[in-house]
Amino acid sequence: KTTQIAIYGKGGIGKSTTTSNLSAALSEMGYKVMQFGCDPKSDSTNTLRNGKYIPTVLDTLREKNSVKANEVIFQGFNGIYCVEAGGPAPGVGCAGRGIITAVELFKQQKVFEELDLDFVIYDVLGDVVCGGFAVPIREGIAEHVFTVSSADFMSVYASNNLFKGIHKYSKSGGALLGGVIANSINAPYAKDIIDDFVAQTKTQVIEYVPRSVTVTQSELQGKTTIEAAPNTAQADVYRSLAKKIANHTESKTPAPLEVSELREWAAKWGDYLLAMETGTIRTEQAG
Ligand code: ADP
Ligand code: SF4
Ligand code: MG
Repeated sequence: KTTQIAIYGKGGIGKSTTTSNLSAALSEMGYKVMQFGCDPKSDSTNTLRNGKYIPTVLDTLREKNSVKANEVIFQGFNGIYCVEAGGPAPGVGCAGRGIITAVELFKQQKVFEELDLDFVIYDVLGDVVCGGFAVPIREGIAEHVFTVSSADFMSVYASNNLFKGIHKYSKSGGALLGGVIANSINAPYAKDIIDDFVAQTKTQVIEYVPRSVTVTQSELQGKTTIEAAPNTAQADVYRSLAKKIANHTESKTPAPLEVSELREWAAKWGDYLLAMETGTIRTEQAG
C-alpha cells in the first residue's frame, strides 16, 4: 500500500528542503519513494538531482498533448522517483488544475501500483488561500498532511490557514493533519512559541529542525543534507523525522484559531518577548 503525504507551509519556509531530506532519509531506510513537486516554481526535487531541473508534467503536456509517465518521472538520489507537476502558463489557468491533471495522469497509467511505491510525498505550496492549492487535501489525494512552520507570525498564520482548510474538508473525506514540522528552531523562545501554537490548535510538533549552515552548504552543492553531509547531527534530525513519519498512522482534525484570536495570541507573545528583552537591558545596566 502506498502512503500519500502532503507537505504545506509558507513560501520560503523550507518545504522543499525538508521534503527532499525526508525523501532521502526514507529511501535510506529502504522505502520506495516518489517526491511530487506541486509548486509552480518546480524546484522541489532539485537537491535530489544535483541541482538540476526536470521537465514538468504540464510543460510536457503542452508540448505533446499526451504524456507517458516515464517521460516525466526521473530518478534521483538513491533511486527516488522525482516528478514536478509544474504550473500553468503565467497569468493563465489554475495551478490547482495542474495538480489534478498530473495526479489523474498517474492514476490512469497506474503509476503508483506499477512502481510499487511505499510513499508519495507532495511538496505543495504556501498559504492555502484558494481551492486550487487545497486540491491534495480536498480531493483526498493525500492521507496525511504536515505543515512546515517557523515561529514567525506569517509562517504560523499560513499554518493556521491550512488548518482552516483541513478543518473544512475533514467532514467530506478530506485529508487530516499529522502535525507541524518546526523548522529553523534555534532560539528557546521559538520552540516555546511553536509549542504554544500547536497546543492552542490541538495538534502536535512531529519534529524540531534547527536552522543549520550544513543545510546551506549542502544546498549550494545541489544536494540534500542526507547526501552531502550524512554524518552530521542535522542529517540525523531528518532521519528522526523520517522515522516518525514512516510510523505515523493517526492524523487529526486541527482546531484553527480565528484571525482575531491569532492576533491576540501573537500580541501576548510580543509583550512577553519585549518584557524579557527590557529585563535583560536593566540587568546589564545594573551590572
Ligand atoms: P520552500 O520550499 O518552502 O519555498 P525551501 O525549502 O526552498 O523553501 O527553503 C528556502 C531556503 O531556506 C533555502 O535556501 C533553504 O536552504 C533554506 N533552509 C530551509 N530550511 C533550513 C534549515 N533548517 N537550515 C538552514 N537553511 C534552511
Ligand atoms: Fe489560482 Fe487558486 Fe484560483 Fe486556481 S483556485 S486560479 S490556484 S487562485
Ligand atoms: Mg519549495
